[in-house]
Amino acid sequence: MSDKNFETEAIRNQMERSQFQEHSTPLYLTSSFVFEDAEEMRAAFSEENERNIYSRFSNPNTTEFTDKVVQMEGAEAGYAFATGMAAVFSTFAALLSSGDHIVSARSVFGSTHTLFTKYFPKWQIETSYFDINNPDEIEPLITPATKILYAESPTNPGVDIIDLELLGNIAKKHHLLLVIDNCFATPYIQQPIKFGADLVIHSATKLMDGQGRVLGGVVVGKAELVREIYLFSRNTGPALSPFNAWVLSKSLETLAVRVEKHCENALKVAAYLESHPKIEKVKYPFLSSHPQYEIAKKQMKLGGNIIAVEVKGGLEAGRNFLNALKMCSLSANLGDTRTIVTHPASTTHSKLSAEEQLAAGITPGLVRISVGLEHVEDIIQDIDEALMR
Ligand SMILES: *Cc1c(COP(=O)(O)O)cnc(C)c1O
Repeated sequence: MSDKNFETEAIRNQMERSQFQEHSTPLYLTSSFVFEDAEEMRAAFSEENERNIYSRFSNPNTTEFTDKVVQMEGAEAGYAFATGMAAVFSTFAALLSSGDHIVSARSVFGSTHTLFTKYFPKWQIETSYFDINNPDEIEPLITPATKILYAESPTNPGVDIIDLELLGNIAKKHHLLLVIDNCFATPYIQQPIKFGADLVIHSATKLMDGQGRVLGGVVVGKAELVREIYLFSRNTGPALSPFNAWVLSKSLETLAVRVEKHCENALKVAAYLESHPKIEKVKYPFLSSHPQYEIAKKQMKLGGNIIAVEVKGGLEAGRNFLNALKMCSLSANLGDTRTIVTHPASTTHSKLSAEEQLAAGITPGLVRISVGLEHVEDIIQDIDEALMR
């Protein structure tokens, strides 16, 4: 590990230059790599060295991207995926067997919830859920079959916060693997490994790319666990494309400045909405009104770019607000340069039953705002005009 600062590493940690001495990293669009002779090929396949063989296994661009995330999160190793969901699925599939048990926060990303409820039970992998705001529920759920403790913080879409240090201690006490989806925070804001996480997952599609261009995912953490995930993935094929890896690696060069500005804008928008007559409730980690404000301050450098708001008047009012926006986009992404507003109950979390939605903190009038990098006054004006309509 280098002793340079986060921003410097994000820019200067790049692959070795080719004979052309390019300044910026080139793109290696190649499916496979050649060998001088049979002996060199044998050695590569016997894993005596780290040579690139085939881009489903590794590629210089995916390695550069992964290395940056490994360094940013303070991890030992990592592997990059085509999407965040490929990273989530491959992590569980590589590490769990039939009969194993997961203890997870109830409020997790919609597709992750669908994996737990619809697909993993087909392989006798069961999941028990705790309320993210009531960590006392965790220990009673742990059984001898429990292997993984899983959570997101802040959560999607409720922006709830859980004490990562507490999760780390529970995982250690019960010999569980602690896996954290750190997508909403990014490693610039929060590094779960410091608090005891064994693995950290990201949808790189969100703030890591940050410009709404490419999909990607990554898992970083303990080398022996990443090795299992790598071997599973090398044989099942969810690898990140070199092109997307190249885009993502360039994106990470500006992660720090982008996230700083996203968070600055989000705090201003959140503070503005807190006193708005048409808003019932605002949840933002760095507003002192957030129920876990103290924990957020302890484990996060900044509050992130996601705000959860409850529009007065429930479902109807929430939908009217979305329809009245002129600049902010209605889109299924988040962490983009463009501010995006969504209505989780009718979109990302519509596959959950009404009871499951409420248990996950998704009320009918909940609106999620992913604050972008437009001028904050323009963001506030658009939101205000849509609310007052
Ligand atoms: C978007 C997202 C995912 C899934 O990532 P994709 O790149 O869309 O597959 C997983 N977890 C969280 C918290 C997300 O926001």
